[in-house]
Amino acid sequence: MADSSLDRTGASLMLEALQKHGIKNLYGVVGIPITDMMRLAELRGMKYYGFRREDAAVDAAAAAGFLTQKPGVAFTVSAPGFMNGLPALAQATKNCFPLLMISGSSERHIIDLDQGDYEGIDQYNMAKPFCKKAYRVDRAQDVGIAVARAIRTAVSGRPGGVYLDLPADTISSMLPEDATDNGIFEIVDPAPKQEPSDEAVNRAVELIKSAKKPLIILGKGAAYARVEKQVQELVNNTDIPFLPMSMAKGVIPDGDKHSAAAARSLSLKSADVVILIGARLNWMLSFGDAPQFNPDAKFIQLDIEATQFDSTQKISAPLLGDLGSILNKLVPALKAANYKADPAWLGAIADDTAKNDAKFAKRIEAGKTNPEFGYYGAIEPINDYFTKNPDTYIVSEGANTLDIGRNLVNMKLPRHRLDTGTWGVMGVGLGYAIATAVETGKHVVALEGDSAFGFDGMEMETICRYNLPITVVVVNNGGIYNGTDQVVSDQLGPTTLDAEARYDLMAKAFGGDSYFVTNYQEMADTFSKAVESGRPSLIDVQIAPSMGKESGHIGNLNPKLDLSSL
Ligand code: ADP
Ligand code: MG
Repeated sequence: MADSSLDRTGASLMLEALQKHGIKNLYGVVGIPITDMMRLAELRGMKYYGFRREDAAVDAAAAAGFLTQKPGVAFTVSAPGFMNGLPALAQATKNCFPLLMISGSSERHIIDLDQGDYEGIDQYNMAKPFCKKAYRVDRAQDVGIAVARAIRTAVSGRPGGVYLDLPADTISSMLPEDATDNGIFEIVDPAPKQEPSDEAVNRAVELIKSAKKPLIILGKGAAYARVEKQVQELVNNTDIPFLPMSMAKGVIPDGDKHSAAAARSLSLKSADVVILIGARLNWMLSFGDAPQFNPDAKFIQLDIEATQFDSTQKISAPLLGDLGSILNKLVPALKAANYKADPAWLGAIADDTAKNDAKFAKRIEAGKTNPEFGYYGAIEPINDYFTKNPDTYIVSEGANTLDIGRNLVNMKLPRHRLDTGTWGVMGVGLGYAIATAVETGKHVVALEGDSAFGFDGMEMETICRYNLPITVVVVNNGGIYNGTDQVVSDQLGPTTLDAEARYDLMAKAFGGDSYFVTNYQEMADTFSKAVESGRPSLIDVQIAPSMGKESGHIGNLNPKLDLSSL
């Protein structure tokens, strides 16, 4: 198609610019004005994955960004499609995942005079608070620069979501006759390295040397930055214990002797120097406050975003830069200083771990035989499978399903777990699972609560249509939190869903494999078979409706009213 008139359209230029940056997969939902553009993408050799709702498509692009360090790309139609995509754009930005959401839109002159266009709304300005940056491209000759800016913005510094507004006119408009080139170029060094100063590194080393009970907290920034080698070296050289945030599980294998995961409370409340590596002291870490943290703890933070420092606690040793560059200086500096944590500290954590592990093991054993089938019995077979097949991916959402699954399923490899992230939001599971299967080619498990599954369950059709190796596990207790919350006799109760819903039949409806299990043994027999088939499948795990705590492990965030007085 060299230099045909088609090649000179805004649509073709945009696809060429994306391809120039190594982007092969597009996620989206088509309609006016982007339908032909996605056909053209297929003709150009790109892979287009069509979803049933835009938020799932944008979630998929976000997961692709997290997994590949290249922005995932999602296309939506205008107004409602665009608005359906916004929550996912916002989530990706909160999670620091690089992403481009590109939406077809109306021409500026119609929008600005409010003349009532088909699906006309000021998308460019609406998107701004929900993303790292929004751009709008009005002319074919600007498409190359627009894509370059969007990609640069998404991946450099703190990664995030970028919105690119693409008016229908730009899609079909042409490069000017006299244009000498098409304006497309590949950006050089999209995420330049940023090294911390020696002074900052020395400050951190001195603080660590003074520590009696140092603790590393690993966040999903460390997973994204692919620093597992440096982090493992750091921990092995120094014997500093670590606590992984949920999406950082596997950066160091969960079974490593330095893991403080099973001694979380003890390690947080005792640590005197806390080293945050790609993790934020936000609500998930109680803002770094006492009593969860030692009130005298000092903090070291490794991050690419300077404004993150001191956001909730004084950061005594800020280390600004990309994690790779920071650790490439910090690890040798600590080695040269011959720093080793006090063995008694690791010993105290090991003792606490042994105690908690024993309690946990009892709960798991009880879960296998308890006539009231619950979360432990439902999820332990998944842990068994991951122990033997660590190169399998897990995506998880729900309340109790998420909480118990996070503790139960051990990870050995980095970036193999994706979940509800910084907002703890529901409805991301299947979009994440689809992109994970597409981008890695590996088997993926989507571990879902029945309520969480409801937010994006229709993407089961997408999974089946593309014949993806995804096993969706719906742990069904018939409710949000649980299914036994009837408040007044003539109403179902606000948290109640259908405890007898046969979610498994959805897979059958779309040509996938359906499984229904009601006890531990059935789940143990079924799970590995379903995953290993490499087929789209759904296992409905029927547990007792009474299982499940309100708000899972974050009940403290749920305001309680004294309803008994009514
Ligand atoms: P978690 O929820 O796992 O604790 P957060 O999302 O809160 O993790 O924190 C991730 C942090 O990692 C963010 O503050 C982000 O700026 C930082 N980050 C992301 N990528 C990099 C990188 N390449 N280098 C340094 N910091 C990074
Ligand atoms: Mg439920």
